[in-house]
Amino acid sequence: MGQVTALECVRCGRSYREDEVLYTCPSCGPSGILDVVYDYEALEANGFGPERLAANPDRTHWRYLDLLPIAPGAALPPVPVGGTPLFQLPDLAERLGVVEMWIKDEGRNPTGSFKDRASSVAAVKARQLGFQTVCCASTGNAASSLAGFSAQLGLTAFIFVPEFAPEEKIAQLLIFGATVFVVKGSYLDAYELCSEAATTLGWYNRSAAINPYAIEGKKTGGLELGEQMAGRMPDWVSVSVGDGCTIAGIWKGLKELRRFGVIDRLPRMLGTQAKGAAPLVQAWRSGEEQWASVEANTVADSISVGQPRNGLKALRAVRESGGVLVEVSDDQILAAEADLAAHGVFGEPAGVTGLAGIQQARWSGLVGPDERVVHVMTGSGLKDAASARRAADREPTVIEPSLGAVQAALEAAR
Ligand SMILES: *Cc1c(COP(=O)(O)O)cnc(C)c1O
Ligand SMILES: [Zn+2]
Repeated sequence: MGQVTALECVRCGRSYREDEVLYTCPSCGPSGILDVVYDYEALEANGFGPERLAANPDRTHWRYLDLLPIAPGAALPPVPVGGTPLFQLPDLAERLGVVEMWIKDEGRNPTGSFKDRASSVAAVKARQLGFQTVCCASTGNAASSLAGFSAQLGLTAFIFVPEFAPEEKIAQLLIFGATVFVVKGSYLDAYELCSEAATTLGWYNRSAAINPYAIEGKKTGGLELGEQMAGRMPDWVSVSVGDGCTIAGIWKGLKELRRFGVIDRLPRMLGTQAKGAAPLVQAWRSGEEQWASVEANTVADSISVGQPRNGLKALRAVRESGGVLVEVSDDQILAAEADLAAHGVFGEPAGVTGLAGIQQARWSGLVGPDERVVHVMTGSGLKDAASARRAADREPTVIEPSLGAVQAALEAAR
């Protein structure tokens, strides 16, 4: 496992040894996000490849330990992550006007979101690096997930969330035993404060945007999706974009699978941002690798990111794949939440934003009618009940406990 050869800066290309640097490139500063580089040849020489993967009975994301930055013998958290279902919804395909529509339901992870893939790896890494205390700034899911894995590994967790974080996510943090700071301010404020506290107080910072290992965990989403779709790779893989680690991680995983011959072609990546937090869409349109930060404002709290930290990796993933980045309104997001639920899957706003993006891309002709699409549904709808109530746009009927009352209510509803 863990044939890491270097940490490479995405801005200046400098390489560092794993023990030389903790988060970002010392020469570029916080925008110098590091990419974990592996010795694929050595892995291959050690027998890693399609046969070994196929023979591995482990259905959790630890089946990809060979491609993760974890040293042999590390204690792994016992609650399984990954192995999430991937299934077709033919009626939804028809509604969206595509030939096949697949959902990869990441809401089935132990704390209810895709973030479990990243937090589990970061928590193991924290222990390995000798930290007893971890911290994280998050709009909610990364934090609740880190809290869940800290509980399993006996780590102390300090969490910084912005005021708009949904109640359900705060409850998750508290029940998993984390200390929670609700920061009076935006996600950006929470993020800055967390970084400062980590540096000053000696905590390990899991904030996905700067932590080079979190994205390696997210990579397992791409590895798993690729294995599940081997031999029938879709034309598009769709996911919502906040900081950009999720889309970049999935892309990296897919590329690794092709490198090892598990899949023979790559899909195009369709990234969707919410209109109220779409700096990467702006960069995408202008063809730049820079973006201006915006005042984020969207119902999709998990992607309410005004200053994406991993935008460079995200933009490159989309460009390399021949994909696109689109933006959708909050109304479109809530409509997508209701639409998907009408087909039996309940996602939080950020979990369905990519679905609204598919619809948008279909309308504008970016996605064609003969194309096959996978949407990575990143978070459970139970994470944010208030948004679900808005999306449902209907109210329960309060009645007396009598059949007459039921009949009267049915009559009134006619
Ligand atoms: C974090 C998150 C995303 C976006 O991931 P980024 O790495 O920030 O782009 C999407 N959906 C959900 C549910 C999330 O929690
Ligand atoms: Zn650099």
